[in-house]
Amino acid sequence: MTLTPSPELQAALARISRSIIADDNKREAERAKADPKAHKLSRVIEGKHGTNYRYTSGGLDGKGRSVLFCWSLHRNVAGYFLGWREVYSKPRGKRGAYTVKRDQWIARKAKWRAREVAHRRAASFLERQACPVCNHPGGAPRLRKPCPACGAVRVRDGGDINPPVPAQE
Ligand SMILES: [Zn+2]
Repeated sequence: MTLTPSPELQAALARISRSIIADDNKREAERAKADPKAHKLSRVIEGKHGTNYRYTSGGLDGKGRSVLFCWSLHRNVAGYFLGWREVYSKPRGKRGAYTVKRDQWIARKAKWRAREVAHRRAASFLERQACPVCNHPGGAPRLRKPCPACGAVRVRDGGDINPPVPAQE
């Protein structure tokens, strides 16, 4: 038998959990304001639009996961704009949801600098994923599918490229 809390209890637990998060964020904000440099990677951003961000896409990685390079639109509690990478894994099973992994955190004083890091990372990621034969961007050969532009197929990750077979004439 599973115990299901009453709606009233669930609401009370949600309120408590929200107030714990708010308290933690408040303490983090106080620490960040006292020593901004030490807290420049803080993920706490005040204000209801604080979590808004933009991204530029790096396309798919070698495992077919969508890779985004992101930057925040508002300063965190230490006064910095954040940049990071998001990797979306495909859902497993019919009812699965996309899972996202965030890493490669950076902090910049100016928003345009955080944006610049995202664009630079995306460009270098796309370059690494490009078809080694014709330079078509976007990872298709890493997925062991023919390059959509030239038809080259990569046999295995990091392995040789099979050049496209010329069409019969
Ligand atoms: Zn190609």
